[in-house]
Amino acid sequence: MFSRILKTLVVATLVFGCAQLASARTFITIGSGSTTGLYYPTAVGMAKIVNEAGIDIRANARSTGGSVFNDRAVGAGQLQMGVSQNNVAYYAYNGSGVEAFKDKPIENLRGVAVLYPETIQVLARKDADIDSLDDMKGKRVYVGDIGSGTEQDVKNLFGAFDMSIDDLKAPVRGSAGSAVGLLRDGQIDAMFYTVGLGASAITEAAQTAPIELVSISPEKIEALNAKYPFYTQIDIPEGTYPDMGAATAVTLKAMLVTSSELPEEAIYQFMNTVFNENKDAFYNDIQNPNLKKYFTLDSALEGMSIPLHKGAVKFFKEQGIEIKDSQMPPS
Ligand code: GLU
Repeated sequence: MFSRILKTLVVATLVFGCAQLASARTFITIGSGSTTGLYYPTAVGMAKIVNEAGIDIRANARSTGGSVFNDRAVGAGQLQMGVSQNNVAYYAYNGSGVEAFKDKPIENLRGVAVLYPETIQVLARKDADIDSLDDMKGKRVYVGDIGSGTEQDVKNLFGAFDMSIDDLKAPVRGSAGSAVGLLRDGQIDAMFYTVGLGASAITEAAQTAPIELVSISPEKIEALNAKYPFYTQIDIPEGTYPDMGAATAVTLKAMLVTSSELPEEAIYQFMNTVFNENKDAFYNDIQNPNLKKYFTLDSALEGMSIPLHKGAVKFFKEQGIEIKDSQMPPS
């Protein structure tokens, strides 16, 4: 009799204990991009840090088409976090700029932190005679993955040259990794990839194919900036990739987004774990050199294009980072 009561008690304690644990635990899937890009290792690395920290969050990363997909999936609750270009997050939240978001603003999209700059990199085969975007008319060009931020950038860039994707002989879509192979094999003439500098996919392309970076003129970038303020000029230095010269290009920011539906405490814990308590691992263990080079808490709100999540507000305030009124979540 006594042992039966004891057994019941033990089982009850276990069940109750587990139920308590389960109710406090937040599961976060982070949407990233192609496995050959930098969003993917960034999301995988952050998830690992969170899982090893012994906090009540279980995180994992998912390879996706990129920014447009991630913002939509976060809005719909299919992902809890995502990496996104800051221009795409702005269009998503405001329901403008990008066809996929037109009149369908993702009002529950919230900012977590700006991570690092990305550059719209334009690569062309040396034998394709492409010195400017104009020269792409009638050519086979990779324009990004389905759901990528890259494709939106291509559309915007072509607009500045009074051309559209329809001027290409064949716009090619799919994963950026497969595009590198197509470029190497001469099945496409050029490719666009909005990704952090030093991405291994581009390094690999530079090592295996006769390719060069195509510049965009500073005048065109100025015109683009007037229309799309998130775009600014960057000079890609010579030697960024093996055997490739310098180029003038357009840059923007990669940021982390989430949904207003996630608990304040979960986002706060996530940020405190990744950006504060395990900052060394964030800088050194994640396979994205841009984090160590560019990420600081002081710059994590520069280029923040949508209102912050409440948990992010708590985190930045605690870290003494000034938050602009326009970055505060709507009440
Ligand atoms: N910026 C790209 C996009 O949104 C993804 C870059 C990456 O995967 O690192 O499509």
